[in-house]
Amino acid sequence: MRKVNGVNNYNNKVVVITGAGSGMGRAMVGEFLSRGAYVAALDINLDRAIETVKRLDGPPAAFPHQVDVSDERSVQTAVDAIIARWGRIDLLCNNAGVLDGHAPAHEVSLEEWNRVMAVNLTGPFLMSRAVIPQMLKQGKGAIINTSSTSGFSAAGGGSAYTASKHGVIGLTRQMTFEYGARGIRINAICPGATATPMAMPEHTTSNSPDMDLAISKVPARRWCKPEEIARLAAFLGSDDADYVHGSAYVMDGGWLTAARDPF
Ligand code: ADP
Repeated sequence: MRKVNGVNNYNNKVVVITGAGSGMGRAMVGEFLSRGAYVAALDINLDRAIETVKRLDGPPAAFPHQVDVSDERSVQTAVDAIIARWGRIDLLCNNAGVLDGHAPAHEVSLEEWNRVMAVNLTGPFLMSRAVIPQMLKQGKGAIINTSSTSGFSAAGGGSAYTASKHGVIGLTRQMTFEYGARGIRINAICPGATATPMAMPEHTTSNSPDMDLAISKVPARRWCKPEEIARLAAFLGSDDADYVHGSAYVMDGGWLTAARDPF
């Protein structure tokens, strides 16, 4: 048994995290490792996944691996490598995502639309499809899909992003319908304004007047920390959440209670 500090409710469980090279995915890698899991840290950018693991007391419990979640073959290769290494998969966190250019719909190119859909929606589908046969064999497993407040409302994300995040909730519900009775629990997490590179590209820092104005309209009056999302994922993926199936769990500091998009 791995020796860990603090809560170790993931002792010897195998957790797969996509988008592990940054933001919420990086925080999830840290959270699950600290709880005793073996963690496959997947990202399209392998160097960033390796960097995530290096920053933590990772190896040998961490396994950085390259994946393009929108590519069927790449997904299968990564999942095969994880099963070959650890023999099982207890939890899949579909967290890799991209934002579009925020243009109004009539200015969005088909290429841009397809790119966002491919990563944000087809990605969770392909990853789940590759992992589910193993979970069915085990008779148990869990999947957590990262949606967004944009899974419920129109916001700053743009049409492709918003449609993809609504789609992630639909995929979560449909797969729950299909696999809940067969031992696989599937849920979505819907973060609001979270302090990650995606929400804060170089030109918009948390200190910019735009962002300050936005946050002043969120009831919690602050950004969500990626570590808070990671702790929610740790709860939803654990046996403590055994009765939580098909939910879209909002963690947004009250964002969705605002009458309109604060941005
Ligand atoms: P978040 O707010 O979700 O944490 P980030 O932009 O900080 O957003 O992180 C998203 C991560 O997803 C990045 O590390 C990025 O490299 C990764 N990613 C983007 N596209 C893909 C893809 N096609 N396959 C796997 N990982 C991807």
